[in-house]
Amino acid sequence: MSKNNQETTKTTGVLGVGVERIVSHEICERAVNYYGYKEQAGQAMEECGELITALHKYFYRSGNFEPMRLAEEIADVAIMCEQLNIILEKQGYGEMVEHAIIYKLQRLNGNIATDIISG
Ligand SMILES: [Mg+2]
Repeated sequence: MSKNNQETTKTTGVLGVGVERIVSHEICERAVNYYGYKEQAGQAMEECGELITALHKYFYRSGNFEPMRLAEEIADVAIMCEQLNIILEKQGYGEMVEHAIIYKLQRLNGNIATDIISG
């Protein structure tokens, strides 16, 4: 693979971009169709709880909590977020999450800029 191809397939987010993004979207859509909205909403809640526990263990408890275990919980939640987005798409609210992400990233960027200016 050329250097250029490596750059174009490099992931920029947790679920990737381009071909990787399409594949992950298809798998998540298959899961939503197979298990159903409520089941996957419940699974999302369960995974969020597991991530909260992992974050607590990794950052706040002394001892060694393996980074890979935290990474797995982050992955679980990222996959569930993709499925929740698909559910909203299927209910006719497809662009809401994307708009909310853009709005919140812009707000975060503005907050950081304000903090930097105010010292
Ligand atoms: Mg999990």
